[in-house]
Parts: sequence; C-alpha cells; structure tokens
Amino acid sequence: MIEQAKQLLKRIYGYDTFRKGQEDIISAISEGSDTLAILPTGGGKSICYQIPAMLLPGTTLVISPLISLMKDQVDSLRRLGVSAAFLNSSLGAQEYREILRNAMLGEYKLLYVAPERLDAPMFQSLSEQLHIPLIAIDEAHCVSQWGHDFRPSYRQLAGHLSRMPNRPIVAAFTATATTEVADDIVAMLKLRDPNRFVTGFARPNLSLSVVSGVDKKRFLREFVKERQEQSGIIYTATRKEAEEVCSLLQQSGLEAGKYHGGLSDSERAETQEKFRFDHIRIMVATNAFGMGIDKPNVRYVLHWQLPGDLESYYQEAGRAGRDGEESDCVLLFEPADMQVQRFLIEQGTGDSDRKSIQLSKLHLMMNYSRTQRCLQQFIVDYFGESNVPNCGKCSSCLDKSEPINRTEDAKMALSCVGRMKGRFGVMMAAKVLKGSRDKRLLEFGLDRLSTYGLMRHLPEKEVADWLYWLVAEGYMRLSEGQYPMVSLTSNALPVLEGREAITQRVRASVRQTSGNDSGSTSPLFDALKQWRREAASVEGVPPFMIFFDATLREIANARPLSINELLSIKGIGTAKADKYGEDIISVVSSQDGEPGSTVSAMNSGRSRKAPTAHREGDELPSHMLSLEMFNNGMTPSEIAKERGFSQVTVEGHIIRCTDEGHEVEWERIIPSHQEDLILGAIEKIGIERLKPIKDELPSEITYFAIHGVISKHGMKEG
Ligand code: ADP
Repeated sequence: MIEQAKQLLKRIYGYDTFRKGQEDIISAISEGSDTLAILPTGGGKSICYQIPAMLLPGTTLVISPLISLMKDQVDSLRRLGVSAAFLNSSLGAQEYREILRNAMLGEYKLLYVAPERLDAPMFQSLSEQLHIPLIAIDEAHCVSQWGHDFRPSYRQLAGHLSRMPNRPIVAAFTATATTEVADDIVAMLKLRDPNRFVTGFARPNLSLSVVSGVDKKRFLREFVKERQEQSGIIYTATRKEAEEVCSLLQQSGLEAGKYHGGLSDSERAETQEKFRFDHIRIMVATNAFGMGIDKPNVRYVLHWQLPGDLESYYQEAGRAGRDGEESDCVLLFEPADMQVQRFLIEQGTGDSDRKSIQLSKLHLMMNYSRTQRCLQQFIVDYFGESNVPNCGKCSSCLDKSEPINRTEDAKMALSCVGRMKGRFGVMMAAKVLKGSRDKRLLEFGLDRLSTYGLMRHLPEKEVADWLYWLVAEGYMRLSEGQYPMVSLTSNALPVLEGREAITQRVRASVRQTSGNDSGSTSPLFDALKQWRREAASVEGVPPFMIFFDATLREIANARPLSINELLSIKGIGTAKADKYGEDIISVVSSQDGEPGSTVSAMNSGRSRKAPTAHREGDELPSHMLSLEMFNNGMTPSEIAKERGFSQVTVEGHIIRCTDEGHEVEWERIIPSHQEDLILGAIEKIGIERLKPIKDELPSEITYFAIHGVISKHGMKEG
C-alpha cells in the first residue's frame, strides 16, 4: 500500500518524500484503523486523507467547517486531476442538487461536506447509496468544549457517525490540541482504538518574536515598509482597532484591506479575494478572518495585541509560512492588553466554567509574552511535546541584552505576595509594594505588612509588570477564575532563602527583523512570477493555485528545459506539467544565456528578440510592443515565439492594451457568434470567476476569448 502511496505522492503532487508523520498516518488509515492525527498548520494534513481516499474504493467524505478552504481544496484537487466536489451553503440550489446527484453516482473520490449539511437523513441517504470507505474530519478540535473553537454541529455529527450501519474508518485531524482536547476528540467521536499521531508542533520556518515597550504605530509602519512585496496579516483584538490600524497604514501610503465581523458579507468576501489574489498585500483583521484562509505565501503575521489564548495565537500566527518558506510572527505586547482580553471574556457568552477556562488560558498567553525561554519551545511544551531544542531564531533566542541582577527586587515581591496569603490579586500586591493609600488596601490593613512601600521608588505599573514577570517565570502562580489570586510556587523558596539569584533581560526595544531570504529574487524568478500572475488572471484563480513561490524558485534555480526535468521539481506532478510545462520551459529558455536580463529589460523593448523597428532606448512598454506585432497580423503564438514569451504572457499583454483603451482587432480572435455566446454566458453567470463561464461554453472557446470579451466590453470590476 505504502509503495502505491509514494507513487501517488510523486505522480499527483510532484513530491518525492513524505513529511514527518504522513507515511505512518496514511498506512494506518489505509489499513483500516481509526486515527487521530495532530499535525501543525502547514504540516500537510490534507495529503494524509487525500491519498488514502485515492487508494480506497468508493467516495471519501471530508468534513470541514471552512467553506473557502473546501473550495480551495477541491479546486486544487481538480487541477491535480482528482475528481472532487463540495457541498455547502455557498452553492446555489441547482448546483447543489447536481453535485449531490453526481456524488450519489459515485463520481467523486472525495466529497467535502460542511458539518451543518450532515443531518441524520443526509447521512442515511449517503451511507445507503454510496460506498464510503473513510470519513476524514478536519479541524476536529471543534468537537471539544475544551478547545478554543467549539462548534455544536460537530457534536451532532459525532452522534450521526455512531449510528451509521456500516461505519467507515474515521480519521480526525487537527493542528491544535492539548492532551485534554485530544482525549475529548477520541471520546466524542467515539474513535475505535485509534492510532494517535502527534508530529512535531514546532514550525522551523517561523521566527517568533514578542516586541514590547515600543511605539506600536511606528514599529508597524517600519515593519510593513520593509516588507512591501510580501503578503501579511495584522490581527487586532477588536473591530475598532482593525479600522484604526487599517487607516493608519493607508495614511502611510500602504495599501491594506480590512476584515471583521462588522462588515457586510460581500465586503468581506471581496477583501478576502483581493488578498488571495495578491491584489492587496496587507490584511488587517480580527480573528473573524482566517478560519478558511489557506493562502500559502503569507510571509508575516503580526498581532497588534495580545490574543486570548495560546492555541488561537499559534493558529493565527501559523497562517504565516504554510508553504514552508521563512516567515515572521510578531506579537506586540503591552501589559494593559490583558485588560482588553479580560473584558472580552467577561462580556462573552460562555457560562462561568467556560469563562474560568478562558481566563486561565489568558494568563498562560501572558506568560508567553513575558517569557525569556525560547518561544517555540514554550509553545510546543504547552501542547505536550518535550525535548525540543531551542529554535535559535525567536526574539528570546536572539536576545543579546545583558541580564540585570534583580534578586533583591524579587525577594521583596515574593515576600510581599507570600504575606498576602493568596487572598489578593496582582494589582493589590503591586499597590502594597508601592505603598498606595488605596481605600480597600487600608480597609484590609495591608499597610501594616512589613513589605508595604518596599518598592515605592518605582511606578505602580512597573511593579505590577514585575510581578507578572515573576508569574511568567514560574515563581508565582495565578489562581483560576474571574478574579485570579496570586500566590507563591515552590520555586520561590530558594530565592527567598538566598540560594538562587534572579536575572532579567531588559529587552532591546525593537527586534532587528530577521530579513529572511525567501524574498531573494532573480531575473528568471521574476519572469516566472510575471508569467504566473498573467496565467492566474486568465484562469481567474489566485497565483498560488498555479504554483507556490517555492516551486517557482526551484524552477529558477534548476532551469528545466524539458518536461522530464520539470517533473523532477518539487511541487510539479503530471497534471501541472501537462498544463503549464511548455509555458514554463519557454519562460526559462527566454531567459537562458542572458544572466543579466530582467523582465523590465524586456519590458522596455530592449530584448534581443524585440523587432528592429524599435530603436534602442525606445520606451515602448512590453505589452504595447506585443499589440503592435498583433496589429501587424501576427498571432499571439507567433508573437510569443518571436519574443521568447509564453503565449499566456502575450495574451495578457493584449488584454491589458484593451483595458487601457488601445485599439485591438478582437474579431481576429473572437468570431461574432462566439462573442454572442460568451456574452450570454456572462449574463447568466456573472464575471466573478472565469471557470464557470468556460464550463458553460463549447470547449473550443478559449479563456483568452472570454477574457477578451470582458475587456472589450469594459466589464471588469473596479
Ligand atoms: P495543513 O492542512 O496541515 O495546514 P496542508 O495539507 O495544506 O497543511 O499542506 C501544507 C502545504 O504543504 C501544502 O502546500 C502541501 O502541498 C505541502 N505538502 C504536504 N505534504 C508535502 C510533502 N510530503 N512534501 C512537500 N510538500 C508537502
């Protein structure tokens, strides 16, 4: 079985080796075991159920709560030549019926279904009419109350599953589960003697950092300006902040989109699409954004504020670098942010048990923000993984600041908290150390403690900060519940007895960002990106759907000149090689032997293949040059050959000229009867996506013709 799996990995996906855990998970599932697999975001969960689905007879059901993710996955599978479809609320009634009918005929190897769609009758009819060998449940932590994203529809699903007459293999997947949540998933889904796989939670391509004590606005502007060519997400805790941060960026001349619960569905969908298509690079969002965004080339995730818990943080931060390239995750932290999160929890809908769980999670999050330990280690430790070496690139590992001896301050703080006997919170302890005349403090007689006023030389806020730092370092703890009390842990004793010294690093204000090398570029890489942009625009899909940056970079390094050479590149399987091989090879060969040439050199009309009619120094833009050749009677494929471009690139040029209002002889490309058909299809379907239009039309009508009609009639949005 595993040999076949390896062949599929190469033939379909173009990958040579399985990632950690994948092979074992695939073997277990294919051999019929229920499975719980916990893999970090970007770890490659999808392949773990897609390959068994291809190996097992029948149709595998994939349960996923994320509508846009389903769509992306199904689109990707189809591009790879695998039959797949989804059923969710985004489909029109007719489309839904059609897919269901096809599904019942067993046409799909994978059928993605939203949990809300899977009520008892639906389950019954699917399981009666279909052979379902496997049910894969994505984001399985949603079934657990202990998780951070509990969903009742997952609970119902668990009930239906257990009542199925021929219950298939069940495989549950998640990226975030503490041991507690993992146990809950097994119990709730009634997994039968499941194989459990927990692969490393560490994400070696992420550089984590916590930045505190900076002017956030300035930091943000500088941070983003350094990365103008990169996609990034900025998470804020509230809608209001999302609005403010977005305007801040826009005022600085940076193009940013916003996404939060206060915007209409269509506004959100539009911004999300723009971000996916790389039309805007920066997305400022609340946590409403993300469940469902599977954009692989997000190069940074910056948290404007402390999030509510470490699971959410790691999940959100983990949206950076899904493609495995170096990426930055930055948390901007101010102690006061705690209050905002606390307020959000208190105002929330959960019952008091739930709130108490949330508050303890918040405290842990705060410990993360203050810890001097390796940040990656801190996180994986939380998820129950030990013995992970220091990452060597987080802000703690890179912190070179001199440690200051603060043993005396620690002794004062610890002895004060010890004397308060675990009956008060951090703020009250800070007031006592500060020597405050607070009314409640006096009522409790805390001014009579010997530690009263010991730290009066410091501002109260700094004293509180210091106490929180001691909590983060494990010398004190906070109780659970809405009003957490602070008390000593056993670690405090050696300090109080003078056997242990305490040093604190005072963090340098702004971390020098790592300046990763994934932004490195070459003329060929740029040319490939340009080709991909145009091909994506012709097909109406985001660029990453065609190829990831990493794949383009590998092409640029390997310079393949045959389909066989191309197939040896990671990320290129047979379907993509068939479809894009010729184009890529022509882009590569157009750059061959011209190490210094760049796309812009070609764009300026100075390419060696530019017609002689244009003198050196003529600044005719590249697309205009193609148009001129077209209007002189050449076909796009002839122009492509002549200029050493792909045909898609030349077609993109002609469309651009049309958009810019230049005269283009479209009748040479689109006969009038085709134009009518295309217009008819557009009227029926709209122009949001080209693929449905193409599917509606006779197969001889090309994407170029469809795009041409849209441009010619000025129907483009915006
Ligand atoms: P997850 O769902 O775990 O977040 P995905 O299934 O989306 O992750 O996979 C993340 C990325 O890793 C995808 O682009 C996928 O194609 C890629 N990937 C998965 N398995 C491998 C592999 N064995 N070799 C190389 N890339 C892989």
